[in-house]
Parts: sequence; structure tokens; C-alpha cells
Amino acid sequence: MKRLGRDDLYCPLREERRASHLAEPRTPVHLWRGVSDGNIFIQACTWFLSQEGYIYMSITELPPLTTSVLYERISSTKKAEVVRELSALLGARFVLHTPYDLMLYEYDASIDRSTPDIVVLPASTEDVAAIVKIAARYHVPVVPRGAGTGLSGGAVPVYGGIVMVFTRMNRILEIDYTNKRAVVQPGLVNLHLSNALNPQGFYYVPDPSSQRSCTIGGNVGENAGGPHTLIYGVTTNHVLGLEIVTPEGKIVQVGGWIQDTPGYDLTGLLIGSEGTLCIVTKIIVRIVPLSEAVKTMVAVFDTMDDASNTVSDIIATGIIPAAIEMMDQVILQAVEADTHAGYPVDAAAVLLMETEGLRESVEEQTDKIVAICNQHHARYVRIAKDEAERQLLWAGRKNAFGAVGRISPEFYVQDGVVPRTRLPYVLRRVSEICESYGLRVGNVFHAGDGNLHPLILFNSLVPGEVERVRKAGHEILAVCAEVGGSITGEHGVGIEKQEEMALIFSPVDLRIMQQVRDAWNPDQLFNPGKLFPIPGRCADIKQLRG
Ligand SMILES: Cc1cc2nc3c(=O)[nH]c(=O)nc-3n(C[C@H](O)[C@H](O)[C@H](O)COP(=O)(O)OP(=O)(O)OC[C@H]3O[C@@H](n4cnc5c(N)ncnc54)[C@H](O)[C@@H]3O)c2cc1C
Repeated sequence: MKRLGRDDLYCPLREERRASHLAEPRTPVHLWRGVSDGNIFIQACTWFLSQEGYIYMSITELPPLTTSVLYERISSTKKAEVVRELSALLGARFVLHTPYDLMLYEYDASIDRSTPDIVVLPASTEDVAAIVKIAARYHVPVVPRGAGTGLSGGAVPVYGGIVMVFTRMNRILEIDYTNKRAVVQPGLVNLHLSNALNPQGFYYVPDPSSQRSCTIGGNVGENAGGPHTLIYGVTTNHVLGLEIVTPEGKIVQVGGWIQDTPGYDLTGLLIGSEGTLCIVTKIIVRIVPLSEAVKTMVAVFDTMDDASNTVSDIIATGIIPAAIEMMDQVILQAVEADTHAGYPVDAAAVLLMETEGLRESVEEQTDKIVAICNQHHARYVRIAKDEAERQLLWAGRKNAFGAVGRISPEFYVQDGVVPRTRLPYVLRRVSEICESYGLRVGNVFHAGDGNLHPLILFNSLVPGEVERVRKAGHEILAVCAEVGGSITGEHGVGIEKQEEMALIFSPVDLRIMQQVRDAWNPDQLFNPGKLFPIPGRCADIKQLRG
């Protein structure tokens, strides 16, 4: 253990790392963990802040990492060969390789960019397996991509290679209303499933705000949530089985139609694996009947604290509404200008809430929620009088990210989770952090889950602004970790939060997860360079602490 001054909060020098066998710090407070590689061995640095204000560093030696494969950009000769083989398989129309065509696939909804070498559009599971075999033979990485609405760089091809897009695999293969199941292809747009089910009185629960464009394959990749997953659970709670293709090009079935299958829960493992373990080609989902009654209400508050405390009190009372979403003033002004849903633009925050179920219980829950809002000084609570008003309120919420385009050329959305009771503190810290970097921030989030989405507004044409935005984002996630939360609620790790994984997982935790990836995807053929901290890229703690 080495004692350092406050000014030494940089990545440690190698000599310091070797001379690190001192005593435990008194009353250690966890500050930061990072993984870095030395010449000879890999070590994990754990940082502590003692009550006296000294920084300590502890070093743990780890077993050596599996050599990570860094893919090089493919040569033009090799690219021509791969394109020829892929075109013979799919038809030239479904293999894109000119710079103009590739531009569209170099980004998702995050701020990272990287151009693929080739884009393929398979039409069947057999196509996917054959493409994977070609890619493996030429040692070219494959990155699965749904609609590219991901917010952490998951579909961005860090090392180039082949991006596999599922636009042609977008069908509902089967609906079984009696057993309440549906089988879909990965490229199916999320909302299209509920649209198909609604006339029979059913729907698919996970409803990301991007549901008009994101795909169910992408939802599986990220284990997506949404406003209505508070009560019914996120994607993993609604997917029962998968058909997948492995890096060897094998077609495998995991899980199935029934609730529970014997053996390892591989479906659970693969959901949220961000395209780093397999490529999903078929998805068996649970479908549920529409509720008998729904009530949607907007509670208006003059302080963020009152709105946040209302959220934790509602849940503490034992009521779990179908949704509790929060929007602050910055967002309300953008949303109202865009959707004209009747949100008050002078309020500090609103809660958009929904109760659903049997008619009597909906009435009862709504009355209780209104009473709790009033106890927390709500200016008023407005209950939607009909379906049209309800839809308009939800349109405002679901279009919120887009509406922010009215007040800022760009925004960067963070995605932390915190215990609900810490929302007032964390929201204050989010404002302070952004203010310290001279940045505006708006908040719109699934408050019931404690799932924060600060939208940091910026303009990349202003020199240095992107860097300040990234630093503010890192600091916000450090606060989420500090209060016992997580660095992602639903948007995944991707490229964006690789380093922050070390904020909530120990080096041993991370190694276990890497062992899983190494077992499934040993050469990182699928989506390389994602999810885990990159060895050698030391976190600059000084930046985090300011
Ligand atoms: C306006 C807006 C609102 C959003 N709201 C929400 C929200 O409320 N809740 C939420 O959870 N997210 C939200 N998101 C984030 C995003 O929409 C989700 O993460 C969504 O699940 C991504 O789906 P996609 O089809 O765009 O996937 P992509 O972005 O294309 O891919 C996401 C990840 O899944 C992997 N993947 C894609 N297809 C496959 C496949 N067939 N097999 C294996 N891996 C695959 C990719 O490699 C990547 O790692 C929002 C995004 C935007 C832009």
C-alpha cells in the first residue's frame, strides 16, 4: 500500500507499483479501481481515500490476461476477396463496401465513430452462419447491428471489419396467443410487435423510448428497459429462448418455449452480452394481455427534491406503478415546444406516472399516488381524461431526446442507476458537475427504477467541448458508483463505459466475465474491443477528481 499526496492522483508509475506492500489505510473509502498492464505482469490498482485525506494505492497481482487480439484494418486485396465471397453468398446488392455506403454504419446514437470495411445484410440464419465462417477464415471481426440506436457505441465497429445488419430479418415468425408466446427475427422493430398484437388484446412489454426504431435483436443485445419495465421487468424477463450463431458458425438453440429449461441459463447469460458472445438470429418472447384499465397522470413540482422524494415514497408505500418518469425544466421546455402536450414549462420537474390493472385497483392506486404527491407539495396532479390525452403525454416523453434538438445542436446522454432514496443528492451533484464544466444539463429518466439519464448539451464545433462533456459524464458515473448504484441501467457498456466497469467490479469480477467471453468468443471475432477496460489504458483519476 502506498501513501500518495492529493496531487499524485495519476496513473501510477511502474516503480511505484512494484514498491507497494504497505499497511492498510485507516478507514479506507473506496475511490477508484482501474486495471493496467506492466511489462511483466498485469496488476489491479485499488485506490482509497483515508479520513485524513490521503490517497492510498493497493496493488493486486492478477493471473495473466488472455492475449487480446487487436484486429488490423484489412488490406484492399483481402477486402476484395472477402467481398467477392460474401457477394456470391448473398448477392452483390446485400454486400456494401464503398465509402459512401459505409458512412451510414460508422456510428450509433453515442458519440463514438468507426467505419466498417464491409456491411452485410443476411436474410436467414443460414446466411448468418455462412458469413461468420467466411469472416473467421479471413480473420475479420463481425459486429452485429440492429437499428443503431444504441447509446454506448455497441454497434460501432472499433476495428472495422464486417457489420452485420438485420434489416432483412425483420419478421414475426409465429404468434401463439394461447400459450402467450411469439417468435421473432432480430431485426423486427420493437413497436411493430405490439402493433401486431394489440388488435388481439396483447402486447410486448419492454418499450424503450426508441421503440419506434430500435430492434428486438438490439434490445436483447443491451437488455433494454423502458418506461413500462418498472413493474414487469426488462428484456431479460420477457425473452425465453434464442437461436444463435457461434463464432464457429454453429447454429444453437438456447432456452425455449417453457418457463424454465434444465442446465445453465444460457438465455440469461446472452441477454445483455452486447454482441460479444454470439449473434442472435431468432427470439422467443413472452406476450401479455393488455390491462383492463390504465390511468396516466402528471404531477407538477416546484423543486427537484420534492419530485424525487415523491418517487421513493410511492415505492416505499408498496405501490409499484406501471411507470414513473421524471422530466426537469430544461427537458420540459424542449418537449413542450416540440409536442405541445400541455406540460408546464415553468415547473422544476414533473412526474409522468401510470397505473394499470383491474379497474378498482387502478382507482385505488391512483388516489394513493395523488395523496403522496400532495404530501410532497405537488403544485397539482393532472389525470389524462381520455386515450388521446394519454397518448399525447407519452408522445412528449418518448420524443424527449429528439425534442432536445430544439435547444442544443448535440447532447450526450448518460445512463447511471442509483438507489431511489439517493436521487435528490445525485441530481444535485449532476447539476454541480455540469456547471463546473460550463455545460447545460437536462434530466429525463425512468425515476421509478432510479435510472438516471442526464442529457449534457454541447456543440462539438466549440473547441474542447467534447472533452469536457466526456469528463463530466465520467464524473457523473463515479457519483452513481459512490452511492452504491451502477454505471449503466439499460444502455450497456459498449465503448463508452469500458473504463467505468472498474468502478463497480473488482479485477477478479472482471476476469470471471472475461473468462466467459473467452470461452464463447476466444478470438474476439464478435464485437471485439467492447465491454471490458482496455489493458494499458490507465484511468486518469486526476481528471475524475477535478
Ligand atoms: C431516443 C432514444 C431513446 C432510447 N430510450 C431507451 C430506453 O428507454 N430504454 C433502453 O433500454 N434503451 C433506450 N435507448 C437505447 C437503444 O435504443 C437501446 O439500447 C436498443 O436496445 C438498441 O437497439 P438497436 O436495434 O438500435 O441496437 P444497436 O444499437 O444496433 O445494437 C445494440 C447492441 O446490440 C448488439 N446487437 C444488435 N443486434 C444483435 C444481434 N442480432 N445479435 C447479437 N447482438 C446484437 C450490437 O452489437 C450492440 O452491441 C434509446 C435510444 C435512443 C436514441
